[in-house]
Amino acid sequence: MLKLIDGKQLAQKRREEIRQTVEQLKSRGIVPGLAVILVGEDPASQVYVRNKEKACQEVGFYSEVYRLPETTSQEELLQLIDDLNRNDAIHGLLVQLPVPAHIDEKAVIHAISPKKDVDGFLPQNLGSLLIGEPAFEPCTPKGCIDLIKQTGVDIAGKKAVVVGRSNIVGKPVAMMLLRENATVTICHSKTKNLKEELLSADIVVAAVGKSNFITGDMIKDGAIVIDVGMNRLENGKLTGDVDRASLEDRDCWLTPVPGGVGPMTITMLMKNTLESAMR
Ligand code: NDP
Repeated sequence: MLKLIDGKQLAQKRREEIRQTVEQLKSRGIVPGLAVILVGEDPASQVYVRNKEKACQEVGFYSEVYRLPETTSQEELLQLIDDLNRNDAIHGLLVQLPVPAHIDEKAVIHAISPKKDVDGFLPQNLGSLLIGEPAFEPCTPKGCIDLIKQTGVDIAGKKAVVVGRSNIVGKPVAMMLLRENATVTICHSKTKNLKEELLSADIVVAAVGKSNFITGDMIKDGAIVIDVGMNRLENGKLTGDVDRASLEDRDCWLTPVPGGVGPMTITMLMKNTLESAMR
């Protein structure tokens, strides 16, 4: 029987833990603060930003949301980032991506202080992760590791296959699995024997962005499958990268979509902001 790893429930539990820690911090006069900047009117980005705002309220953070017009210049945006970098009430700062085409995304990310980079996107944080120094871990990978640990299976010595090598998911999750002493393989669009690689995996992390791309015949019995994919079909339905139906009668673990990795991502953003305030 397929065992589902409930990300919604775990996210709720983690948020409650964060809320309790925030209460303790408040009694010492510290309120974790998160600032989010949104430029333009992208509907998906608006939803993400609203969800981040709501999560802040839920855990008791101070939050500032800047909704800037599409016409905002890069200079204006960089000035605001600079101000927030210096603002002691703000412990975490992020710019919701994508930014409008006239703004250089890289310049914007690099303007954020590494000490407030709670998304964990900056080279300083990714580099620290690589060499095993304390860092803000990118939120989605951090959520994946927490979900894997919920199975009670020891990651050490397991063969993990990550499909996808993006800087925000694939590469950092591979580094984090390595840190947990898994034997890690990273697959991508040029990988020749994907099915063979997957069939040897005790842990699979799918971060491809293609609906139902990984099917049951590619997964071995007992495997833990973390489905990061969030693919919106034409009928509006949200699907993952893993074909859940083909795993339904199998003895495996799977994170559902929706309700798996998704709810963990914002929760890990809250956790990173809390860690920043505690530093
Ligand atoms: P990217 O598009 O940046 O990366 C996709 C990766 O998949 C690339 O490395 C690409 O390889 C690889 N790939 C594409 N086709 C194949 C193939 N045929 N075989 C093997 N590998 C392939 O995506 P992201 O990492 O940003 O996101 C991946 C998915 O996760 C998306 O659905 C996204 O929406 C979702 N996501 C979900 C989050 C959440 O909170 N749940 C957060 C972030 C992302 P190559 O490098 O060779 O091109």
